[in-house]
Amino acid sequence: MTELYQLTIHEAGELLRQGKISSVELTQAHLERIRQVEPKVKAFTLVTDELALKQAREADRRFASGENLSPLTGIPIAIKDLICTKDITTTCSSRMLANFKPPFDATVMQHLNATGIVMVGKTNMDEFAMGSSTEHSAFFPTHNPWDLERAPGGSSGGSAAAVAAGMAMGAYGSDTGGSIRQPASLCNVVGLKPTYGRVSRFGLVAFASSLDQIGPFARNARDAAILLQAIAGPDASDSTCSPQPAQDYSAALTGSIKGLRIGVPKEYRIEGMPEEIVQATQASVELLRSMGAEIKEVSLPHTKYGIAAYYIIAPAEASANLARYDGVKYGYSYRDTTDMWEAMEKTRENGFGAEVKRRIMLGTFALSAGYYDAYYKQAEKVRSLITQDFERAFKDCDALVSPATPGVAFKLGEISDPYQMYLQDVFTIPANLAGICGVSIPGGFSNGLPIGLQLLGNAFAEDIILRIADTFERETNYHTCWPANL
Ligand code: GLN
Repeated sequence: MTELYQLTIHEAGELLRQGKISSVELTQAHLERIRQVEPKVKAFTLVTDELALKQAREADRRFASGENLSPLTGIPIAIKDLICTKDITTTCSSRMLANFKPPFDATVMQHLNATGIVMVGKTNMDEFAMGSSTEHSAFFPTHNPWDLERAPGGSSGGSAAAVAAGMAMGAYGSDTGGSIRQPASLCNVVGLKPTYGRVSRFGLVAFASSLDQIGPFARNARDAAILLQAIAGPDASDSTCSPQPAQDYSAALTGSIKGLRIGVPKEYRIEGMPEEIVQATQASVELLRSMGAEIKEVSLPHTKYGIAAYYIIAPAEASANLARYDGVKYGYSYRDTTDMWEAMEKTRENGFGAEVKRRIMLGTFALSAGYYDAYYKQAEKVRSLITQDFERAFKDCDALVSPATPGVAFKLGEISDPYQMYLQDVFTIPANLAGICGVSIPGGFSNGLPIGLQLLGNAFAEDIILRIADTFERETNYHTCWPANL
C-alpha cells in the first residue's frame, strides 16, 4: 500500500477535499517519516513539528467549513532556510544568522500561509546559498537519500533531499546559478527555477540580486505547477517582480507536445561527461520526438563563458549584499572589544565560512577601481551575449533540452577544489544570466543514482516547460521511483 508520505500533492489534495484523510493525519505521517529518516539524511536545520500540527488542525477546520480551500491547503511543505519566516529562525545555514528570527514573512511565505500550507521545517543549504553540495553549511552536510555517502547537491540540497525522502510533499528553494535544478537532478525530483521576476524576492535573503529566484521542488510536474502557482505573480514590495499576472500552470498540462519545437544545444555536451548522462539525454530527446515534438539542433555559442561571467557577477553582487552583516544591525556580533573596527572584523572572521569569504573577496576585487572595467564590465557584456544566444534560439524553438548536471551525485568530501565544484552548474548558470526559466526532471538512472533532464523555456514560458515535463512523465516512470535502503 502507498504510505501517506508517498502521495503526491495532487492526490493528497483530492483525498483531503473528499474528507478521506485529514491534514493532521497527513502531517503526522510526515513527522513520523522525519523521525525515521532525518537522522540519516539531515535535510533540516529546524523541524517545526508543533507549528505543523497547529497549521494542520487549522487546515482541517477549513476543510470542514469548505471555505478558502486551495490545492496546497493542509499540505506538508519544507522551506529553504533563507526565506524569511516571521519569528522562526532563518539561518542561511550560517553562524552569522544562527539566531536570526525575522520580524516579518517573505512575500512567498505570506502567500503560502494564506493558502494554508503546513510548514514542517526549514531546510539545510550551503551557507548563503553559495555552493553545490550543502557541504558549505556551517552546521552539517545533508546526505543524498539515494546514497547516504553522497551529496544531495546544493545549495538547496536540504529541500531536494526532504522531498526525495518523503519528509515533505513539496519544498521551496532558491536558484542563483543552479541551486534548485542541480540538487533536484541529483535527488530525482522536479526542481523549477522561474523566470527572473516571476516570483517575488521580498524576504529572500539576497545572494546575487540580479540572478536569485525562489522556486519549487516536487515529485512530479503537476505538483510543481501547483507549488509555482501559489507563489507566482506581481508584488508591490519587490520592484524587480514582474507586473504580468501568472498563467494557469495546471491548465497548461494538456498531455500533448505535438508540434512543439524543442532545441538541443550542441554546446551542452562537454568533454569528460559520463557516457550514461549523454545516453540518458539522447534517449529522452528521442522520446520527446516520438511524442510529437519537432527536435532541432541549436547553437548557444557563448555558453562556454557562462561560468566565468557568473563567478564575477555573482560574487560582485554578493559582496555588496553581504556588507550588511557587520555585527551591528542583526545576527552574530563579536563583543569582546571596545574597538569598532576590530568588532566588525572579528564578526566577519567568525561569522562567515571559507566559501562566503572567498566570494566576498572575489567580488570586492572585481569591483575595485582599475579592475571594474577589466572584469565586472566584461562579465556584464558576456552576460548580454549569452542572453542574445537564447533570444536567437527561442525564435526557432519553444523550449531547449539538455542534461541538468555534468555528472551524477558525487561523494561527500569528494570535490575539494572550489573550481571543480563551480563546474557543477555548467548547464544551469546560463539560464540565470539570461533570466529565463528552467526545470530539472527525473530523466534516468546510472548505477542507482538519478540523472536529471533540464528543460529551458523562454522568459515567462513556465507553462510550456511544465507541459513538456508532465507529458514526458506520462511516458516514463523515473519520477515514481523511491530511494531504497533508506
Ligand atoms: N552553485 C552555484 C554557486 O555556488 C549556484 C548557487 C545558487 O544557485 N544559489 O554560486
